[in-house]
Formats: sequence, structure tokens, C-alpha cells
Amino acid sequence: MSVYKPPSADLEAPDHDTGRDHPRGLRPRLRFALRRRAAARQLRRPATRREVGTPAPTGPPGRSSSGGSTPRPRATIPYITAREGEVDESFLALRASFSSAGGSRISYADEGWRDRDAQGVLWARVSQSLDEHGVLVGAPRWKMINPARQRETMSQLLCQFCREPARTDEGILFLHSTKAGALDSSTSLRTTQPPFCRKHARMAPDRCSHLAKHGVALLAQSAPLYGVVGTPYRYTADRTIQAMACDGDPVPYGHGDLDWMVASQLVRTLRAFKVVNLEDL
Ligand SMILES: [Zn+2]
Repeated sequence: MSVYKPPSADLEAPDHDTGRDHPRGLRPRLRFALRRRAAARQLRRPATRREVGTPAPTGPPGRSSSGGSTPRPRATIPYITAREGEVDESFLALRASFSSAGGSRISYADEGWRDRDAQGVLWARVSQSLDEHGVLVGAPRWKMINPARQRETMSQLLCQFCREPARTDEGILFLHSTKAGALDSSTSLRTTQPPFCRKHARMAPDRCSHLAKHGVALLAQSAPLYGVVGTPYRYTADRTIQAMACDGDPVPYGHGDLDWMVASQLVRTLRAFKVVNLEDL
């Protein structure tokens, strides 16, 4: 069993790594020259690797971080993408307990304050592949999302790729597929996809073939929390806890089903949004 969830049908995760980091419209010869220059810089840089979207190293012994004009390394893996070595550790610690209201609910035997969100919903425990400096490592598991990093970026409205703030003066930038039909900006949409900064929204179609065909950007004026997607459990007659089939439908905060659910994705509602072509960002 795994709590990793591919994104819901409204949007697909990046399905490959193009390594693209240049603005649209650069001529092939210019792109080639930029790549050669970047490769030369890479050769001159120390071997230490840092990926965008991860905390800065606390400072390896004996090394200064000063370097003036050293460019940031190229980001190739979205921050929320699951990595090899990340393990779902939820099930072994699950047990039944009683809530403060007296009802039964699912919990962890050694539950801590980080295990539940502000609405009291229990979250999956999935490890993170970090090195000794807190930098994400491990090969990407494309189309798989790490629940902790999805929760972090969605709750704080950070770019799902680089972890920088995604809020702009014009609204919060989300990407959406129009495959299911045309959008009416007067309606509300629900999404499990954390927002993007402007730079990475522009790059997204090159990383996701689905978005390249059907993607649009939405600038939302409001994006309140809605609920979660997760795995429902039940307490059986022989006093064991059993996972049930997950339909992937979001369950709103306040719903009774959440007492017996382990969440793996945070869901927001997009309201008062403006549809923008990705090419126009
Ligand atoms: Zn970004």
C-alpha cells in the first residue's frame, strides 16, 4: 500500500525532465551558446550540489558561501516530486482511538503535533530523502507526489517547483487542464495541484505533454482550503485496521469521513479566477 497519489485528473504531474531553463523564443544558436557557458560555469563550481526548492545547506565545514556572482544551479526536479528511498511509514503505527468529542477515529500510536493539520485531520507519514545538509536527493519518481511537500507548498501557497512564494499582485497562479471542457470563471474549481511561480508556470508545458496540449494558467483572487484527498480506513470485527479503496475524491473539512481517513493531498478551491494563456505569462 502506498499513500503516494498521482495528481488528480485536473492536472498531470511533470512526466519527464527536459532540463529546459531558458525563456521561450531563444534561437537555437543562442541556446547552444548559453548551454556551453553554463557547462563551463558548472565545471568551475565546487562539487557540492544543491537543488532549488530545498533548504540551503547550513554550511559545510571549512567552506565559505561567499562567491558573489555564482549562479544558482539549474533546477530539474520539481520540489513536490517523490524521490527514490521515500517510504510510506503510516500503516504500522495506525490504531483506533477516541476523539475529544467521544467518537472513534484513526490515529498514530506515537502521534505528535505534526501528524494532524489545523483542522485535526491525520496526515500520512512518508519519509523524505534528504542528505546531511537537508537537501533532497534520490532519483525522481515522476508522476508521484510526496504528501509532506504537497501539503507544505499547498498550505503556504509556494511554487510546487521551486518553493518560492506563488502569490503575485494579480492573484495566485495555478495551472489547469481544459480537457474536461471550457472554463467559466464564475464557477469554483477544486485542485490538489499547488500553485506555481511565474517562471515555472511558463516552463510547465515543456515538462508535461498533457499541459502542452490542454493547459491554461488561472490567476485566482481567492483560493481557500477545501479539504483533503486520502486513504479511508475501517476498524474490523477482529479489531484490526483495514485500508479501503480510495476513489480520489476530495473530502471537505468538517465531514465525518475524515475521522477515519489518512490524508495525502491538500485541496483548495479556486474562486474568482482569470484564465490566462501560458504563452502570455
Ligand atoms: Zn517556481
